[in-house]
Amino acid sequence: MNLDARTIDEVRQRADLYDIVSERVVLKRSGKDFRGICPFHEGKSPSFSVNPTRNFYKCFSCGVGGDSVSFIMRLEKIAFTEAVLALARRYNIPVHSHSPEERAAYTRKLSREQQILEILEQAAQFYQHARQSPIGQVAREYLQRRGLSDETCQHFAIGYAPPGWNALTTHLLERKRYPAPLVEAAG
Ligand SMILES: [Zn+2]
Repeated sequence: MNLDARTIDEVRQRADLYDIVSERVVLKRSGKDFRGICPFHEGKSPSFSVNPTRNFYKCFSCGVGGDSVSFIMRLEKIAFTEAVLALARRYNIPVHSHSPEERAAYTRKLSREQQILEILEQAAQFYQHARQSPIGQVAREYLQRRGLSDETCQHFAIGYAPPGWNALTTHLLERKRYPAPLVEAAG
């Protein structure tokens, strides 16, 4: 099960750590915190501290610490998702998980981003290729005058935009056959 971030956030906000811990540990007030005997190690000193405002526990002897979800995980020896679900049940928090449709939409979005990156890469290659081809003679002469060697240009992926405003678009649409909306999205 893929828990939605909203569910996890709500559980973390609403699960009252003092409430949860005090069912298992006798807590006594100590300043702003509560102290008790740590349920996670053998010991008789009240080394276990609960900060109710920050919803955070810490044992000064064995070093464990965390929030209400982590307390339940340690105590019941269960996984993160199970602990969140147990707390959601206890506090009547609605559980949202990613539906198959949501996951599919997310995958589509990712692959679209990948395609756009690919188009940008193709565009960079196109300009570099133009610099090295006969049409880029004027650019190469200019770069030579500026003292930039061929290796430097290669290294920094310096390209040349040939005359005409649509050379790249034509290249991407007609030679590489990318769909027009995607090329547009890539800018
Ligand atoms: Zn401890």
